[in-house]
Amino acid sequence: MTTDAPRRNEITVELPAPEDAQLRFIGVIHTPWSDRKDCPRQGRADGPECRLVLDPTWVPALAGLEDYAQIEVLYWLDRSRRDLLTQSPRSDGATVGTFALRSPVRPNPIGTSRVDLVRIDGAEVVVRGLDCLDGTPLLDIKPDRCAFSPKAPAKPGVAS
Ligand code: SAM
Repeated sequence: MTTDAPRRNEITVELPAPEDAQLRFIGVIHTPWSDRKDCPRQGRADGPECRLVLDPTWVPALAGLEDYAQIEVLYWLDRSRRDLLTQSPRSDGATVGTFALRSPVRPNPIGTSRVDLVRIDGAEVVVRGLDCLDGTPLLDIKPDRCAFSPKAPAKPGVAS
């Protein structure tokens, strides 16, 4: 967690000891961005290819994902502070509550993006539309809920 000084009007909270939710990182995300100033605030469909590199244990869990044109990626914004109740995203003193923002600064820094699935190559899932720093831990992958997926209609009787 970073300890950058809060901006004007930002309110911090003394964090209680964490409870262990037993999250497991399932891999790591490789993107072109190692510096926050270069990283997009939200991913774009015409963004660069990024790679979700799964730990070998989880490769069998990718079976069937190739049928989807879009997927949701959940990741852990590991370089965020976690103790702000209000934030001044534009540094102009105007504040808004953390839960009214998609800022990476939040009590549990989970990022989510709906991305285009480009290809799956073994343990690597290549996507477009991400907005995280290189080396961001990967939490989960889910098929998208939108009307355009899966590419092939779901088989009758198979739960999504
Ligand atoms: N799309 C996700 C969401 O809406 O939940 C994340 C949006 S958040 C505004 C994206 C920003 O988080 C990036 O522009 C970058 O400044 C920051 N960020 C990206 N990766 C991060 C990481 N691993 N740790 C901390 N901050 C990160």
